[in-house]
Amino acid sequence: MQALDGAHVAVLGGAGFLGSHLCDKLVAGGASVTVIDNFLTGGPDNIAHLTGRPGFRLVRYDVTDYLHVPGAVDYVLHFASPASPADYLTHPIQTLKVGSLGTHKALGLARSKEARFLLASTSEVYGNPQVNPQPESYWGNVNPVGPRGVYDEAKRFAEALTLAYHRVHRLDVRVSRIFNTYGPRMRVDDGRAIPAFFSAALRGEPLPVHGDGLQTRSLCYVDDMVDGLLRLLLSDHSGPVNLGNPHEVMILELAEAVQDAVGQRPGIAFHPRPVDDPGVRRPDTTLAEQVLGWKAQVSLSEGLSRTAEWFRLRLRNGGSAGG
Ligand code: NAD
Repeated sequence: MQALDGAHVAVLGGAGFLGSHLCDKLVAGGASVTVIDNFLTGGPDNIAHLTGRPGFRLVRYDVTDYLHVPGAVDYVLHFASPASPADYLTHPIQTLKVGSLGTHKALGLARSKEARFLLASTSEVYGNPQVNPQPESYWGNVNPVGPRGVYDEAKRFAEALTLAYHRVHRLDVRVSRIFNTYGPRMRVDDGRAIPAFFSAALRGEPLPVHGDGLQTRSLCYVDDMVDGLLRLLLSDHSGPVNLGNPHEVMILELAEAVQDAVGQRPGIAFHPRPVDDPGVRRPDTTLAEQVLGWKAQVSLSEGLSRTAEWFRLRLRNGGSAGG
């Protein structure tokens, strides 16, 4: 990644799951990295291996407050936000604030530094979609006043504000719409299906499936996602661009695949379906293929077996925090 060599990148939310993997790639590519994170849902353990590396800095700070980074900044990557339903239902107001006020501060930072800005948006802008797969041109089906609205609407606002800065201030922006991503450094207790399934399977307990398990998800391994995000960052395309793995599976199939990856079959326990839980979720990645030459490469079984190691280690160490 030549354009990153010697660049200074501010990664907001860089102590989280995706942010920390991005930091790994940025540092490996020769960039100086300043992580700004308040540790709401991430933590310093995720980037402990980077501390002390030349050019790497960690600042504990809430990005909804006035934001300043000394010196030149070439790229501002805004990944700060609770991301799992359990997290944003626990922190609904922080989620709305970081998507609105935090995005405003992050855009202000990029503007003052004449930096390129990348927004981590989400497939949740499509809500409970009535078209499948979802192309970028689909406007979505979001319940603004339901419990999940705090996340969906915060991200929809963040996209609108980002595009307004682009139109009014000519800010150089990139908008990624990230579909469900998984891999090492997910928290055991973050409430998403993959951590919940792994921790149950590894403890020999039935895997908790919501509803009848016929709802679908499309899951992208984290290495593929980071590659797609960096390609978008360095491309000429403002987006929004869907990034995700289009291989769609039913939750019941996912539960089977996790049991295969773990090599234990404790079975399934059915639980009530959360309010506004999407029935289907699958990215149309035609645009990413055309403009970024990007397509997810890691199969579900390969990604799950890499991830199994992580959860095995976490549970052996008795930890549920990030890192
Ligand atoms: P994460 O919770 O692991 O990371 C988010 C990070 O943001 C955490 O380290 C948290 O402490 C930090 N943060 C939250 N509020 C903050 C604030 N006010 N100030 C400073 N830091 C703050 O989640 P993740 O899965 O790594 O997601 C990262 C980004 O990608 C989020 O914006 C999320 O919406 C987006 N995204 C993720 C996925 C996914 O599947 N993981 C899917 C779609 C979108």
